[in-house]
Amino acid sequence: MNSVLQTKKECFFCKTTRNLHRHHVLYGSSNRKQAEKYGFTVYLCLNHHTNGGEAIHRNPNGPLDRYLKELAQKYWEENNGTREEFIKTFGRNYL
Ligand SMILES: [Zn+2]
Ligand SMILES: [Zn+2]
Repeated sequence: MNSVLQTKKECFFCKTTRNLHRHHVLYGSSNRKQAEKYGFTVYLCLNHHTNGGEAIHRNPNGPLDRYLKELAQKYWEENNGTREEFIKTFGRNYL
């Protein structure tokens, strides 16, 4: 499914259109599949994804990671279901 969190193909944080990766906002084993299903993906540049000092995969639970997870859960609670259902689907509460 296309992203429900972003409409343009650009880095979510810095807006560059170079070296983009598709990032699953909820990641790890089963979450990745569910994130794909519900459109909780964003494009990130290499720096914001894996390489830079602030990169999401170098700072699990850091500010950028938390920001996207909270955004996904807020979207879910407005469009998909209850908080309990979010926790059931993604394993925890971010709000
Ligand atoms: Zn970026
Ligand atoms: Zn990623």
